[in-house]
Amino acid sequence: MPEHKSELPPSIRDYYQFRDYLHAVDGVVVYKNRIVVPPALRKEVLAALHATHQGVSSMIARAEASVFWPGITVDINNERNSCNACNRMALSQPSAPPTPLVSPVYPFQCICADYFHYKGTSCTATCLYASKPPRVHLVSSVHCDATSALF
Ligand SMILES: [Zn+2]
Repeated sequence: MPEHKSELPPSIRDYYQFRDYLHAVDGVVVYKNRIVVPPALRKEVLAALHATHQGVSSMIARAEASVFWPGITVDINNERNSCNACNRMALSQPSAPPTPLVSPVYPFQCICADYFHYKGTSCTATCLYASKPPRVHLVSSVHCDATSALF
């Protein structure tokens, strides 16, 4: 085994860092327990890993249990990212349409409130949907008793 990576033929230099775990079983090169796939077969293996349009994590998990080559993770990412079917189906979900405001039928039917702190002072902002503008109250506590006392 050469001392330096540069002493290897260019075609196998990428394997140098994995050399301690490479061995042969019946003429097949194996990295740990994974078959080392030669460049000519990698495209076919990538297609098999993505045959059911699995995501990158699943593809990597399958590869880690069976096949290996230097740079396989990058190739798996590229395989997934170049799949038109996955890209079409995996588009981000559009945001939900805005929910229309409820029009109150009777007083105090719809109330919203929120707490905030302004310059060290606790405040609550309340809004009765039937009246405007919102009210802002200074409160000594954000406890529900203090809030219910406002009404
Ligand atoms: Zn796909």
